[in-house]
Amino acid sequence: MKPWILGLTGGIGSGKTAVADRFASLGVHVVDADQAARWVVESGRPALQQIVERFGQEVLLQSGELDRAGLRQKVFADGAERQWLEKLLHPLIRAEVARHLALAESPYAIMVSPLLVESGQYRQVGRVLVVDVPESLQIARTTARDQASEEQVRAILNAQAQREERLKHADDVLVNDRDLSWLAAEVERLHRFYLTLRGAQK
Ligand code: ATP
Repeated sequence: MKPWILGLTGGIGSGKTAVADRFASLGVHVVDADQAARWVVESGRPALQQIVERFGQEVLLQSGELDRAGLRQKVFADGAERQWLEKLLHPLIRAEVARHLALAESPYAIMVSPLLVESGQYRQVGRVLVVDVPESLQIARTTARDQASEEQVRAILNAQAQREERLKHADDVLVNDRDLSWLAAEVERLHRFYLTLRGAQK
């Protein structure tokens, strides 16, 4: 039977990666939309050529790879260019994610996407798991991980879907406010539950 898809989301620093890694260690096939977004612009992929034709060689690093930060800055202030880029990349990212999900041999597969709710992708998955943490913990863990300032983290928080909006679309909520061994046990509990589900396909 074709695996059903679990959408995994949560705000910045909520613990999506930590949770996804635990599922992966239990043998669940995991695809990360952020990784797919990087793969579609790797050297040799047609999207990179199109980006260079549009924005010039200056969006390339010396290595020939895309200067993602530079490109982000270039389109940041220009709505039309940003739209062009999104129109190019979004379908490619979706296809890349779908291609990798199709390789799954586990009973269900996980699509990790920070923007699962904002992008409407939640409609395409069988079930949604939201990793949720109190905002104070989210800020503390992210500033510790990224050496970012509290203001920077707050700015990203504000640009993401509001917590309530995300939780509205959740089938399951994992509140990641304890230590990592507790988190691992929760993931195992959810995994056992997910293995009993057959009807979550869409
Ligand atoms: P982003 O959206 O920014 O990529 P994320 O949702 O993937 O973040 P993680 O990178 O998994 O979040 O977690 C953020 C940081 O908090 C990491 O350094 C991670 O190791 C740590 N962390 C996650 N869960 C816990 C926990 N239960 N206890 C302690 N540290 C944790």
